[in-house]
Amino acid sequence: MRIPVIAGNWKLYKKTAEALRLVQDLSPLVADVQGVEIILAPSFTVLGPVRSLLNDSPIAIAGQDCFWEEEGAYTGEVSPGMLVDAGCSHVIIGHSERRHYFAETDETVNKKIRAAIQAGLFTIVCIGETLQERERNETFDVLERQIKAGLTDLSDDEMKKVLLAYEPVWAIGTGKTATDEQAQEAHAFIRRLVAECFSDSCADGLRILYGGSVKPDNIRSLMSQPDVDGALVGGASLTAESFAAIIHYQK
Ligand code: PEP
Repeated sequence: MRIPVIAGNWKLYKKTAEALRLVQDLSPLVADVQGVEIILAPSFTVLGPVRSLLNDSPIAIAGQDCFWEEEGAYTGEVSPGMLVDAGCSHVIIGHSERRHYFAETDETVNKKIRAAIQAGLFTIVCIGETLQERERNETFDVLERQIKAGLTDLSDDEMKKVLLAYEPVWAIGTGKTATDEQAQEAHAFIRRLVAECFSDSCADGLRILYGGSVKPDNIRSLMSQPDVDGALVGGASLTAESFAAIIHYQK
């Protein structure tokens, strides 16, 4: 039985006052939720204040990225240990926006995942094809390359700290969601590949989140797919009402 995960990626939004207001508004709306892991990924500058406000709440916090070195002369970078120090239990690695705008590659993704796990973080590893790749029928090739290269040299034990997020790039922030069938087909492919590359038990326990224009009105049917174990939510995580409605998808 895989515990569902709903994670909110705040991207480059929310300064301190707005971030704290969002947490204050969200917390009572989801206080009664059981059996769903809730994760918020604010920007680095508000991790500390958000963590303090969440206090002993079960809501977890995640960094939106990290570097692979723990310390050194790397101006502007944030290390996995710094995220732990700020109260994070999770980190998002390889988001398509980082791959696209900041030259993230499968190799740097792999280095970051290994460093993050070493520091004790759960890593939410994002993979997914562009529209051109889907139109050229390359979706599965892209997913295979991203998984094989991104997860190189991880042990089965380290894989327990990995969650995968299938995020078709054409669905992120566009209002176009993958159909339930497209999501299920990709997630089933990912799980089979992880079974091949690691083990059946590793694949069975792996949480695979869907990301790409998830909203209160499409979450329920996406979550009803057998291989969809959660969602990584961008835009709809920026208001308490819509994110809480997504978290309450079972209602
Ligand atoms: C994301 O940021 O990972 C994402 C899926 O964004 P959105 O929900 O806005 O498409």
